[in-house]
Amino acid sequence: MTKFIFLTGGVVSSVGKGVTAAAIGRILKARGITVTVQKLDPYINVDPGTMSPYQHGEVYVTEDGAETDLDLGHYERFVDINLSQASNVTTGQVYAEVIAKERRGDYLGGTIQVIPHITNEIKRCIHLVAETNEADVVIVEVGGTVGDIEGLPFLEALRQMRSDVGPNNTFYIHVTFLPYIGASRELKTKPTQHSVRELRGIGIHPNAIIARADHDIPQEHIDKIALFCDVEHRAVIPAVTSDILYSIPLQLEEAGLGNFIVESLDLLGSPPDLSDWSAMIAEIKRPKPLARIGIVGKYVELHDAYMSVREALHHAGVRHHRDVEVAWIHSGDLEKGKGWEEFEALDGIIVPGGFGYRGIEGKIMAARWARENKVPYLGLCLGMQVMCIEFARHIVGTDEPNSTEFDSKTVYPIISLMPDQHGLADMGGTMRLGIYPCQLIPGTKAAEAYKSDLIHERHRHRWEYNNAYRGLLAEHGMVFSGISPDGRLIEIAELAEHPFMIGSQFHPEFKSRPNEPHPLFDAFMLATINYKQENQREKQIVDTPSDTNGRPKPVSELIQE
Ligand code: GLN
Repeated sequence: MTKFIFLTGGVVSSVGKGVTAAAIGRILKARGITVTVQKLDPYINVDPGTMSPYQHGEVYVTEDGAETDLDLGHYERFVDINLSQASNVTTGQVYAEVIAKERRGDYLGGTIQVIPHITNEIKRCIHLVAETNEADVVIVEVGGTVGDIEGLPFLEALRQMRSDVGPNNTFYIHVTFLPYIGASRELKTKPTQHSVRELRGIGIHPNAIIARADHDIPQEHIDKIALFCDVEHRAVIPAVTSDILYSIPLQLEEAGLGNFIVESLDLLGSPPDLSDWSAMIAEIKRPKPLARIGIVGKYVELHDAYMSVREALHHAGVRHHRDVEVAWIHSGDLEKGKGWEEFEALDGIIVPGGFGYRGIEGKIMAARWARENKVPYLGLCLGMQVMCIEFARHIVGTDEPNSTEFDSKTVYPIISLMPDQHGLADMGGTMRLGIYPCQLIPGTKAAEAYKSDLIHERHRHRWEYNNAYRGLLAEHGMVFSGISPDGRLIEIAELAEHPFMIGSQFHPEFKSRPNEPHPLFDAFMLATINYKQENQREKQIVDTPSDTNGRPKPVSELIQE
């Protein structure tokens, strides 16, 4: 019998409900319990694929090519599982399905209503994820906060689940926030009390309350929440904001949540083994030399837009004993001659995925800097296309080479539309999406990084390297090191005469895990370490500064590591 854990949010959004759901997954997995996770998003969009990164952050892509909420990235990274389309359900999808059934006549002329038709469809989606994953536990997170009008059908469906599958098989967790009042220097539990009251008005009585706060939570506050919200003392789990995202499972475990869930749901599990995870946190906390990586994009003021890229960098940093510091560089600024002062201090440059013309020239300039200064460069999807365009411009000596995405009339369409993308009217879900195989060419940097000759990676793009230009760029030192098994599509490009300049048409960042960094990020991180060491050695030879006695300064002062 599958057990269900339902997470709802209260008081405010953005308190890390997704990370909490993911962390609960990890502490259950540490007991040998199989877990899957699902996000129910109450907005009307059919999927986040067409939503602006400004509003929604990164679009996370699953193996089966679903464009999903970024919380799925947390679930996959924390629990180390691969999720599918079924793990992200929106109001838009639910209504589309119900309306399609109504048009087909499946309801035999009945009146279609929110209860039971919409709620039944939501429950069908929850059961579907349980059945397809055969997990012991399904963790279901509802987006938004209690009180949102659009969230009501989802909460009603969760309420019904309790009697559908039995109270012993459901566990409701309400994640709230305790605001800190600066003037009186105290945390407040009242909004949590109100939020739980609202939830109970809907018919959901939480089994546990996770109280998020930016300050330590005194015991009396825990007591108060337990009393006013009518839950056991051990059901109130304090979760104080941590700088280290991956420490949340340890925090929840320490607060006893794992044992409480296991007991309440009557789950069979072994004693929790989080030793690997604890070792990883110890390594994250240990002071380490810095790796300063520039991420050049157009949504850099909103770091969530590049969440998986940032996380993949941190994973590789931990493996190579480096603290990664990201310099967020706005590609639009580079076009105006601003932001270049950052570049001298960078150990590596990443141009991540993106769409549209805005800021593209700045990204091409960043790729040029990386090529000319032999700075490690990793191009992700658009970043690979940018790298190829830049190299073509260098070869032909003009800035005419381009992608037809940015200049439909370019005389050098280095990147062009894939044949099956011509004439498409629908923008949603019509890209080349999800996992595809890729053959690596032996002896290349890519093959060396993966230590394999066949890989599978996740895609999300419309444009593609134009095969008409394979010869031209290859003659000048570009190596096409990853190709689709049918030989049609260039998947990885790298520069022969550069210590590490690699671009992939896919998104490796989606497959990186904290305990298993992605091979390309791993190799990139190593290249940045080598570059930093070389660079400092060179600097030392060229301009060894001397102290007042004319003696060279000791190396230890020059190299901060
Ligand atoms: N805009 C480019 C394309 O559609 C790159 C997409 C991406 O970076 N995800 O091909």
